[in-house]
Amino acid sequence: MKSALLENNIHFYNMKRLFTLLLLMMAAVALDAQEPIIGKYKKALVIGAHPDDPESMCGGTMLKLKEQGCEVVCVYFTSGEGGIPGKTHEEAAAIRRQEALNACEVMGVRAVFMTQIDGDSQINKERYKEMKDLIDMEKPDMVITHWPIDAHRDHRVCSVLVYDAWRLSKHSFDLYYGEVMTGMQTQMFTPTVYVNIDSTVELKRKAYLCHESQGTAANIEKWHEVIGRMRGHEFHCTHAEAFVKHVWRSSDMLDR
Ligand SMILES: [Zn+2]
Repeated sequence: MKSALLENNIHFYNMKRLFTLLLLMMAAVALDAQEPIIGKYKKALVIGAHPDDPESMCGGTMLKLKEQGCEVVCVYFTSGEGGIPGKTHEEAAAIRRQEALNACEVMGVRAVFMTQIDGDSQINKERYKEMKDLIDMEKPDMVITHWPIDAHRDHRVCSVLVYDAWRLSKHSFDLYYGEVMTGMQTQMFTPTVYVNIDSTVELKRKAYLCHESQGTAANIEKWHEVIGRMRGHEFHCTHAEAFVKHVWRSSDMLDR
C-alpha cells in the first residue's frame, strides 16, 4: 500500500510532467506562429534605401523565400551616391550599383534601381507616384522595407513612401518592416515576426561582402551580425532576422 506521501509525490511528478509538456507545446505553437513569412508568398519585394540595406536587413530571409519558390526582387531606393568618402556622386553610384548587382547575383535575385539620391531623398507627389507605380508594376504579394523610426533620413523617407503605396493599393500586399543597425539607425523596434536564418546566414554574408566599399568583414560583424545573433537568441536559434508586420485593422468605412 502506497503511503499518502508517496501518492502525493507521484501526483506532483505527473503534474510537473504535464505542465512541462504543455509549456513545450505552447512554445512550439508560438515559434511556429512567429514564422509565417516562409512558404506563404509568391513574389517578394525588398525595398532598401541604399545598396547593402536589403542584404543586411533580410538577406537570409530573401534566400529562404527563394528556396521555397518565391520570386524575390531587391529594390535599391538610391544608388548610394553619398556613401564613399572622396568619390563624386557619379563615381560612388557606379561602384555601389555594381556591388549591388554582384550581391544580387550571389543571392540569385533580380536588382531594381530607383532614382532617389543618397542623402537627398525626397517626399513629394511625384515620388509617392514613383513608388506606387513600381509596386503596381511588380505586383508583389509581400514587401519588406525599413522600419520608419530610424536615425537615417533616407531610411525614413523610403519607409513612408512604401507605406503610402500600401495604403493606396488598399493593402493589396503584406507589408513588413525590418531593421538595420538597430540602436545606431533603427530605433524603438520590437519585432513581431522572426525568421530562423541559420541555414542561409553564410550565403547572406557572402552577398553582403560584395559591398566592398562599405567596409571589411569586421565591420559586418560589428554592425550587422551582432543584430542577427541577438534575434537568434530571442528566437531560440543562432541567427535570425526579425520584422514587424503591419496589420491594418480599420473598417472599409475608415479606410481612406
Ligand atoms: Zn542605409
